Amino acid sequence: MFNEDEYKNNEINKYLAQQEGYEEVSDCCGAEVEYNEDNESYICSNCGSECNIQSLSDFQHDEYENAMEDKADIQRDNERDFCD
Ligand SMILES: [Zn+2]
Repeated sequence: MFNEDEYKNNEINKYLAQQEGYEEVSDCCGAEVEYNEDNESYICSNCGSECNIQSLSDFQHDEYENAMEDKADIQRDNERDFCD
């Protein structure tokens, strides 16, 4: 389901990541990650969950693909609503 607020959040996080120049982001939100030495895991600074890291460019690529899919979904929904 397309969540516009979440999408905007991700856009902001990506922008901030670029401004701050960090390259590795959480795979859930695309936000900065903190390494938790006790659990040997990464914590997303945005949602606070354990997450995996991925490079910012990978995240942006995924986001682009998702955005394109979401756009197609929304168009389909709109067309359906229009017919009703
Ligand atoms: Zn997150």
